Order: sequence, then C-alpha cells, then structure tokens
Amino acid sequence: MAAEKGINSSPHDSERSCWNCRYQDITRQNTFLGVCTWFSKHGRKDKQIPPNKVDVGCNHFEPKLK
Ligand code: SF4
Repeated sequence: MAAEKGINSSPHDSERSCWNCRYQDITRQNTFLGVCTWFSKHGRKDKQIPPNKVDVGCNHFEPKLK
C-alpha cells in the first residue's frame, strides 16, 4: 500500500539512487553528478553518471557502507 511507504525510513537514507550508492565517486567528477565506479570494478571503464540516472540509480545499486 502506498501509505506504508517511508514509515520506517528516511527518504534519503535507503532509497535507490546514485547519491546513496557505494559506487558513486563525486571526487572524480567532470560533472557534479560524479562517476560510477561499478564499471572499473568489473573490468570496464568508469562512466559519468547521467542526469536521468542519478536520482533513480540502476540495477547495480548497492547502499553505501556506513
Ligand atoms: S549508476 Fe548504478 S552502480 Fe553506478 S552509482 Fe548509480 S546506482 Fe550506483
């Protein structure tokens, strides 16, 4: 049910987005969205995070370690 959404969690803490993802690196940026480091951890070249991805994340999302 929609009413249950977010009862127990802060919206910025657990939602899937690049901002909450351990693979986002905003220190190596050409744009303020940062770089996705998932690719270099899987034998590929890192990519800039596109604006249409940054707020929704992707299937490789993993929460940041606290
Ligand atoms: S694109 Fe996917 S893996 Fe990369 S930072 Fe965003 S959510 Fe994480």
